Amino acid sequence: MDTQVYHITYYDYTESAYVQFLGCNFKCLGCIRKRFVWDHHLYEDGSSKEVMDGEPRTLTLEELEGVIKRVKKEMGLKRVVLGGGEPTIDPAFCSTVKALSDIELEIALLTNGLLLDKVIDCMPKGSTIELSVKSIYPERFSAYTKRDKSDLDMVLRNMRLAYQSGFKVIVETVLIPGFNEPQDVEVLAEYVASSLSENVPMIIDEYVPVPSAPWRRPTLKELLEAKERSEEHLRKVLVRSSYTCDRLSKVYVIYPEPSELKT
Ligand code: SF4
Repeated sequence: MDTQVYHITYYDYTESAYVQFLGCNFKCLGCIRKRFVWDHHLYEDGSSKEVMDGEPRTLTLEELEGVIKRVKKEMGLKRVVLGGGEPTIDPAFCSTVKALSDIELEIALLTNGLLLDKVIDCMPKGSTIELSVKSIYPERFSAYTKRDKSDLDMVLRNMRLAYQSGFKVIVETVLIPGFNEPQDVEVLAEYVASSLSENVPMIIDEYVPVPSAPWRRPTLKELLEAKERSEEHLRKVLVRSSYTCDRLSKVYVIYPEPSELKT
């Protein structure tokens, strides 16, 4: 069976593999994949320059199982994070999740949430679902994602569904000066607190500029303002940014093997 998994990296400080799926059902103006095909942390430290030259090739489910089992055995892998791209558009998503659960790995899903209701029953109980909300306003959501405005309702409905179904829900949004400002992030936090719980964690990501979008990177001050405003409503708000992230250890390229990619 073919999957849409095209890239795997391993983070030894969290004993996690980041399993990345090709393709998405959104066309976000600020999508980082427009700039970085591969895990963007690899570009920051420059340690895997050769990866940047390769063409993506997706794995079969059997190949993926083989790679993950090897990483578990050799590197002590405990957790897989499914991201991309959008994992839920992969027809092999449920089979992939089952195969990874059978290897006894904890699973976390990063998703835009639109199709979550279609696959939620495949997710092991108690897993983490990090759901990204591009904007809490339907017009902006539509302008940014090129989806219909009504799709935001579905995303928010699926966020509530995940929470009510007992998953560890984390809400993520990206701070984009001129588009998704600290006060907009606060409105989202208020929504999460009132429709889910004040105990649901929220992550505010730093926008990384891409060539086709007009926005700049936010400052640390702006990120902290968004955090402070959101903390008026939620108990746990984290900023994930180049200013605040301490790289504790190395990111390894697992697939494709760097040697396969040399041109
Ligand atoms: S949902 Fe994520 S992967 Fe898909 S286009 Fe938007 S930013 Fe990119």
